[in-house]
Amino acid sequence: MIQVNPLVMVPGPTPIARSIQEQMAKETIAFHDPRFIADFDALVLELKNTWRCDGMAFAVAGSGTMAMEMAVSNTARRGDSVLVCSNGHFGDRYIDICSRKGYDLDTIKAPPGDTVSLEEIDERLAGKKTDVLVVTHVETSTGVELPLFELADMMRLKHPDVLLVADGVASAGAVEFYMDWGIDVMLTCSQKGMGMAPGLGILWASQRAIEKRLNMPAIAESYIDFAKWIPVMKDARAYWGTPPINMIWALAEAVRIIKGEGIGERDRRHRRFAAAVRKSVSSLGFKLAADEHLASPTVSAFLYPEGAQAKDEEFRAAVYDEGAHIAGCQGDLAGAGFRVGHMGNITANTLVSLVAAIERGCLRCGYPIKPGSALAVLQEELVAIGSQGRG
Ligand code: PMP
Repeated sequence: MIQVNPLVMVPGPTPIARSIQEQMAKETIAFHDPRFIADFDALVLELKNTWRCDGMAFAVAGSGTMAMEMAVSNTARRGDSVLVCSNGHFGDRYIDICSRKGYDLDTIKAPPGDTVSLEEIDERLAGKKTDVLVVTHVETSTGVELPLFELADMMRLKHPDVLLVADGVASAGAVEFYMDWGIDVMLTCSQKGMGMAPGLGILWASQRAIEKRLNMPAIAESYIDFAKWIPVMKDARAYWGTPPINMIWALAEAVRIIKGEGIGERDRRHRRFAAAVRKSVSSLGFKLAADEHLASPTVSAFLYPEGAQAKDEEFRAAVYDEGAHIAGCQGDLAGAGFRVGHMGNITANTLVSLVAAIERGCLRCGYPIKPGSALAVLQEELVAIGSQGRG
């Protein structure tokens, strides 16, 4: 039997471009090798310039959760007033992280499938002096997008002294953002919009966020201390933790691909692809978990029709057997639906294979669908979008 891996259509990791894999497969050299130092220095500069960051960019071995912890630990000190907005599972994770650090912590939680509104945030900040606001740009558990540009705009105009920290794990590299919108820390990791394997945390910090950290006394955390990493990110001859050499090379290639497509163009492609996936999968009777106008460009959560929920694992296993790995839902929605990632370096072909595998999964599980019906919807959308989504 031919052994073929299924398409990786979970919300991270995503299918990885061959040229990125080649960077991971290169012969590893020493991190003090002048060739690696030059590559690392160039990458940090590229991260700062591409995402218009006046402070510092960081690429540190670890997962997205590490990057979440790194972002808040360096911008809020014990006793600071921190407001965390949660739109679901990963927002709740941020609340948990912040609840361990001695902050004066406030939270706002959105109902499942919704996002905390700018009005609620504005109102809460107007009522209490706050040092740091923490939000999730795309909440992966429900597939909702928070309007980050509008939020940053409001913060600049109405709450300019509050530092804005955004979890961009399920957005950066796919969805457009720039630090000069007024974001103080944006964090992400390698396995989502960047289109790499997991293992690298990536952060951008504004000049004022860096200054805040450098004006604080020593923080309790060591490995993730900005102050320990700044010398390395300024000049890779410095040492703190050993850099993941091949992942740094892979990120340089990922950024090259993103710049080649263009950040704005990449954002538009993701939005078109996401709309096409939503329309075609919904046509099978699955209901989008997010409000359509909040639906994210990178991940979609679909709920099973009434009565079909008992089949969650069976359905996902059938889709896996048919060639696409999709994910279960999390938190309150666990068992009630499935999630698909449609982010990174994917093409129209990837989406056709995904929807075809979902259709075959439906047929195998006895869902009353017409074979080819969702594919027909998808195909029409893809043709309207243009060649490979780049029309
Ligand atoms: N934040 C969001 C929005 C995420 O989607 C995830 C991972 N799915 C994380 C944080 C945590 O990232 P990691 O699993 O790499 O630690």
